[in-house]
Amino acid sequence: MLFFVFCDRILSKGMISMNSAFSFYMPVNILSGEDVLNQNKSIFSELGKKCLIVTGKTSAKKSGALDDIINLFNELNIEYETYDKITENPLTVDCYNGGKLARDTSADFVVGIGGGSPLDAAKAVCVYATNKHIIDDDIYTASVENSPLPLVLIGTTSGTGSEVSGVSVLTRKDGRKQSIGGKNYYAKYVIADAKYTYSMPFGVTVSTALDALCHAVESMFSPRADFLSKEFSLLSAKMIYPLLCKMRYTKESPNEEERNTLYFASLYAGFALNKGGTGFPHGMGYALTEDFGVPHGLACAVFLPQYLKETEKANPELYNELMGAMNTDFELLNDLFSDFCSFGFNISDEQISSYVDRWATLKNFKNSPTDFNNEDAGKLVKNLFQK
Ligand code: NAP
Ligand code: FE
Repeated sequence: MLFFVFCDRILSKGMISMNSAFSFYMPVNILSGEDVLNQNKSIFSELGKKCLIVTGKTSAKKSGALDDIINLFNELNIEYETYDKITENPLTVDCYNGGKLARDTSADFVVGIGGGSPLDAAKAVCVYATNKHIIDDDIYTASVENSPLPLVLIGTTSGTGSEVSGVSVLTRKDGRKQSIGGKNYYAKYVIADAKYTYSMPFGVTVSTALDALCHAVESMFSPRADFLSKEFSLLSAKMIYPLLCKMRYTKESPNEEERNTLYFASLYAGFALNKGGTGFPHGMGYALTEDFGVPHGLACAVFLPQYLKETEKANPELYNELMGAMNTDFELLNDLFSDFCSFGFNISDEQISSYVDRWATLKNFKNSPTDFNNEDAGKLVKNLFQK
């Protein structure tokens, strides 16, 4: 289906250009479609006889995914333990304890259920489980000597695209978020069923949709993006933007069809992210989550309008293509983002200068299309967060 979307887009542009070169590495088997879990029972039997389910406090239950997995395991005679200690912005120590539990219970594989937090945590649990020498924050530096446990992911939000990325974002002992990634952080299978997102509250739906849109846009202008990843970015942005506009005006959660659109758009943005990575909105957004508890999607989205101004300077043609795909212009988009991202706190000069120092080595600036740097970022924060 996607192939035809691309062919259609290329033909409608009237040419297949020499710029169509791409490379694509994403070693994840994504399963979707009607009753996808029950249609693919055999993968679980093949993975083993004992499973550790890694999840947060409520999402696995509210979404219905936990019941579905437990029923399946009972039918297949697969033993399981449930580790539900994963919080938002998961801590390395909780992931380490999950890994230890997987070892102690001789789990053959892990199933991660939830939004980006439990999914990212489940990736780390698989690494800790088979690498006894890695403890807590060592995960950022120690070598992974043994292959991680095989992992199945079931997403319950439509934002991070963690299902398809080789990235895990964890919170270190010092309270700072840091991502880790590479070939050891990919799931083996993804059960992609948007019905598990239907229970998301309105606020989480908005924040995660903004996150996915940031992934699509930031990865699109990354120096690492290529022909194919840009197509995924455009497709995703085109799917998400109108639904964000609708949510803004109705203040109501999307219907089931719209939730399906949001969920698959978040995976397409994940494909693009996997190639291009994120720009400065994501790098800067972590600080708002750490210090002010702003949900991840909103924390990144507040910086996206400035990012778009930079992209217009750097690559006006691609910028226009993106705006055309979303059928919008800067003023409309800025208005939408300002409405969703209006926070009631100020950030002091002292705090801003500590961010400026910290961001001096932030790689996300280099992965953005202009020379916007940590000093500029400090001015932007002052502009947005000082009344
Ligand atoms: P989340 O932190 O996983 O979940 C946010 C909240 O929504 C939690 O309270 C969660 O409950 C609840 N929730 C999730 N699904 C639900 C459902 N279907 N029904 C009812 N409640 C539900 O949110 P997220 O935005 O998906 O993930 C954010 C994390 O992902 C951040 O740590 C971010 O840095 C990371 N991230 C990772 C990547 C990547 O490539 N790996 C990319 C972007 C962001 P529970 O607490 O019970 O789970
Ligand atoms: Fe994100």
